Amino acid sequence: MTTAELRAADRDVLWHPFTQQQGWSAEDAPIIERGEGCTLWDTDGVAYLDGVSSLWCTVHGHRHPAIDAAVKAQVDRVAHSTMLGLSHPGAIELASRLLAVAPRGDRELTRVFYSDNGSTANEIALKMAFQWWKIRGEEQRTKFVYLDMSYHGDTIGSVSVGGIDLFHSMFRPMLFDGIRVSPGDVDGLERVLRESGDTVAALIMEPLVQGAAGMIMHPEGYLRAVRELCDKYGVLMICDEVATGFGRTGTMFACEQEGVVPDLMSVAKGLTGGYLPLAATLATERIFAGFLGRFEEFRTFFHGHTYTGNPLACAAAIATLEVFEAEDTLGALAPKLELLETLLEESVAPLASVREIRRRGFMVGIELVDFPVEARMGHQVTLAARERGAIVRPLGDVIVLMPPLSIGADELRRLVAITTEAIAAATGVAVPESVCTA
Ligand SMILES: *Cc1c(COP(=O)(O)O)cnc(C)c1O
Repeated sequence: MTTAELRAADRDVLWHPFTQQQGWSAEDAPIIERGEGCTLWDTDGVAYLDGVSSLWCTVHGHRHPAIDAAVKAQVDRVAHSTMLGLSHPGAIELASRLLAVAPRGDRELTRVFYSDNGSTANEIALKMAFQWWKIRGEEQRTKFVYLDMSYHGDTIGSVSVGGIDLFHSMFRPMLFDGIRVSPGDVDGLERVLRESGDTVAALIMEPLVQGAAGMIMHPEGYLRAVRELCDKYGVLMICDEVATGFGRTGTMFACEQEGVVPDLMSVAKGLTGGYLPLAATLATERIFAGFLGRFEEFRTFFHGHTYTGNPLACAAAIATLEVFEAEDTLGALAPKLELLETLLEESVAPLASVREIRRRGFMVGIELVDFPVEARMGHQVTLAARERGAIVRPLGDVIVLMPPLSIGADELRRLVAITTEAIAAATGVAVPESVCTA
């Protein structure tokens, strides 16, 4: 099919996620056919820098030879077998490797429960926490505490602990009740836990950075303080590392930076290097042991998805973790983070239409000054970036940069230069003369 035929068929048969379809076909979105490293090519052969790691997943770049080879080798063995009643080498090896790199400290994550996306990994953590208390006979612990502006996925359970009204409030009648607290407010959280802590099963949060909220950064020490309050009031702590995991914030997991080990931790996005859908919920032995008993005691965790722990996905994930070691991905990140900081400061910050730049590791949010909602300015910036050869995504009027950790210095310069020009062009401001552009 030609590009025009593909576009016509897309318009006729598809419904895209998080997309207002009215007006969609007028935008001629690129139809991506191929990728390599940090570059994507569309069906017309036009190249784009992948400035958002294909939605925060592609850690080591596209078509990484080691991950390609691992997936191909697994295809030659078996593509899928079930984890219900059976096991397979990839699931076992990956679980060991994941636990070996998981945050360590005053407790230890020792068990891996697979699923296939971030929303389900969080649903599983919520259900585990809920059932764990029920088994212990503390039936009154049914509630979940979550943060304002939190995002934990789009399934009903994860939406129930979601704090972004634009996405979530519409569904309120379908959701279970939770207690919403303000991110960063330690005293407020303590008040809530002092009053109703004994009805709370768990607190769920994104550690350090609330990604989908538009890259909200928590104050230093907040994560640690939440951990301590959870312990003080006997509440389980679930950390959602779906966005922050696998090097995004500069360390393998964000929790490490404040010496925090949650009771349950969910991972997804970067887990397979962006190759295949796979997620995992990590648990401490204390949680796991709570579910043990004779069958007829019905302590079994009755939950599992058909593609749970898919062997192809596990092979991609093992290879992804191997590349972290082989290429010292985290070590190589430090100079890139410095460069990124300098580039943002020199080119993006001086733009009159930029209000604030928020960054932690390779998670960047560039907040624009106020524009009318109908101007869809964040969206306009991404269209302008696309014309200039980069794929970026907005969260409202926050422009997100989340490049692959493997991005080279020159590519990083080009990404920031294109972003600068795109913001200037879309918002109608001048690029200061001192700024280098693409
Ligand atoms: C993306 C994301 C999710 C949802 O993951 P899916 O794979 O899209 O279901 C959950 N939590 C956080 C923090 C995320 O960024």
